[in-house]
Amino acid sequence: MSLRDLNWLVSHTEPKASKMIDQLRGHGIAHEELLALMGTIPRHEFVEPAFSHLAYSATPLPIGRNQTISQPLTVARMTEWLLSYSRLGRVLEIGTGSGYQTRILAHFYNKVHTVERQEPLYHQAKRRLSSMGVNNVEYLFGDGQAGWPNQVEMDAVIITAMASKVPLALTHCLKQQGILIMPIDHPNPQIGCWRKEGDRWKCLETESAYFVPLLEGMEYA
Ligand code: SAH
Repeated sequence: MSLRDLNWLVSHTEPKASKMIDQLRGHGIAHEELLALMGTIPRHEFVEPAFSHLAYSATPLPIGRNQTISQPLTVARMTEWLLSYSRLGRVLEIGTGSGYQTRILAHFYNKVHTVERQEPLYHQAKRRLSSMGVNNVEYLFGDGQAGWPNQVEMDAVIITAMASKVPLALTHCLKQQGILIMPIDHPNPQIGCWRKEGDRWKCLETESAYFVPLLEGMEYA
């Protein structure tokens, strides 16, 4: 990193990141380790370069291929739910996108499995996180609605794209007492947190939020 870049980082990133953390606290995010982590992850490196000056603002931003990274509060809320309710063993993320949520999950879970249906985003996130030294993530280019191959059982599943119903294969991936977090557009757009209890689902949390849609199939470069 050049001295100019470093100066930019100190003068722009730190104050904005700390303001972002203050805003998260103001909205009730209380997990100190999560707040500290989000304060140090360079969020401006995960968004399209033209929007990097807005990276710490309370807004979703473009990450390429018509996809968006969620606003910080939504990422923090979903992660805080995961940390409150799930075991921190193995988590499956559907919708790698920029890799920002993956980066956060990798800090807390022993193993992260992440699936992306857009080839360029899959490659970009893999490269980005590897260059940041993140090495407990397995990446898959595919349609995440099919779940993870080899029937590996997960402690938690987080879907970061919105659907009308839960893809069945994803519910099969989850252990009993496992936690599912996903945005759902029925009856209105919201994120929810459910626990698998036998063949029933116990709803633990909901909050209104918008996401890009969960789509079928794969898209190539
Ligand atoms: N967690 C991401 C959010 C990205 S937006 C981040 O932190 O940046 C949602 C992502 O889900 C997009 O990249 C989109 O391509 C992907 N997606 C949508 N449907 C999918 C599917 N069926 N399987 C895998 N990824 C999917």
